[in-house]
Amino acid sequence: MKRIAVLGGGESGAGAAVLAKVKGFDVFLSDMSPIKDKYKEWLDKWQIPYEEGHAHTEELILNADEVIKSPGIPLTAPLVMKLMQQGTPVISEIEFAGRYTDAKMICITGSNGKTTTTMMTYHILKEAGLNVGLAGNVGRSLALQVATEHFDYYVIELSSFQLDNMYDFKANVSVIMNITPDHLDRYDHKMQNYIDAKMRILQNQDQNDSFIFWNEDPIVTKEIEKRKPLRMKLIPFTGKTLKEMGDKPLTPGAYLKDGKMVVNLVDQLIDIDMEDLPLPGPHNLYNTMAATISAGIAGIKKEAIRKALKTFKGVEHRLEKCGVVDGVQYINDSKATNVNSCWYALMSMKTPTVLILGGKDKGNDYTEIEELVRERCTALVYMGLHNEKLHDFFDKQGKPVADALSMREALEKCRAFAKPGDTVLLSPCCASFDLFKSYEDRGDQMKAIVKEWMK
Ligand code: ADP
Repeated sequence: MKRIAVLGGGESGAGAAVLAKVKGFDVFLSDMSPIKDKYKEWLDKWQIPYEEGHAHTEELILNADEVIKSPGIPLTAPLVMKLMQQGTPVISEIEFAGRYTDAKMICITGSNGKTTTTMMTYHILKEAGLNVGLAGNVGRSLALQVATEHFDYYVIELSSFQLDNMYDFKANVSVIMNITPDHLDRYDHKMQNYIDAKMRILQNQDQNDSFIFWNEDPIVTKEIEKRKPLRMKLIPFTGKTLKEMGDKPLTPGAYLKDGKMVVNLVDQLIDIDMEDLPLPGPHNLYNTMAATISAGIAGIKKEAIRKALKTFKGVEHRLEKCGVVDGVQYINDSKATNVNSCWYALMSMKTPTVLILGGKDKGNDYTEIEELVRERCTALVYMGLHNEKLHDFFDKQGKPVADALSMREALEKCRAFAKPGDTVLLSPCCASFDLFKSYEDRGDQMKAIVKEWMK
């Protein structure tokens, strides 16, 4: 019997182990950290042997025919390097799951906007009555669903880490929202390594498949030029108006015309009033364009797309309004874990803003938001264990600044800085792990404190 070892016992690893077991493999799962009870229940239910909370037992893994690596484990982990050196295939959960389903795959990646676009696309397909599953980085294992359910479509959010170990997997529709520096600590501080990981979403696509991308992204467009001729259908979207494009519409593609978002799919023209778009800000126009194009390709008609967009409510921790205290609006954008997403958050601000930023820096260059901070922020609160870089970069603007070591301290300092009519924005540009369990924990703490103040 072929042996499969799974590294990591979270959502993706535990799901992959279940699918491997269902497909008749000899499976073993290993996690150096404690495994959550939820996932232990899955492993016990399917009688999958596992180990947790100590170093991997190498002899139980090095003898596997194939290894499924969870996205959280870096390619440079000593055991992963050893496996690759001895020629054992190391694949991702998505690669493995893709072998056992012939559902149509809509796969979404990018540095920012993945979750919003994935959730919006899923919402439209589901509301239109398609038999669709939601999977990937949004926190639902594709492998588990392939093992236990049947869907005709999957909408899958893919991080660069999931794409790292994909080889034969094919997306029917691939979407790259944008590529800006992120996770460079995991890519040897080389931007091209990160770009190459993202571009893997195109591999194996053929003339029956589609690739949706932002036409103004300098990195994506350059990579397309490098790879030409490409076999799949290219469908760009742009924030430009038809006039700005010299009256040359993108066919196929999405653009703006007469106060409308237009999606031109050649066999179908979908136009939606800008006022009817579900979420604010220029970035959400792009997210809506990508979701609408994907839905159109899945054969959904204009009326059904319009109707579904009306009921899409956005995603928690993304420019989420927490409440108003003393005339100040508090906004939780905890998911803004890189500089570019904070840029879009600041672009969406309509009032003077007190900005909370800081946390675990992933090699950030703050130049991108320097001007916007100068123009739109009245004060800055640095919330992290190591704020030196933020002081070095922003203090010279001469705005009031303060340090904080907890969410409560940060919010209290913001409250002292803010005047009625201002906004307090948490859009930290950084990961949360120095002071919080996760970005969700960081956002939840903010919401709880604001709620307490509103009483
Ligand atoms: P991801 O899943 O890629 O992290 P999300 O949809 O969760 O993306 O959004 C994360 C943050 O990025 C949001 O808080 C928002 O400020 C910003 N953002 C959302 N969509 C885009 C986009 N298309 N381009 C740039 N920034 C975006």
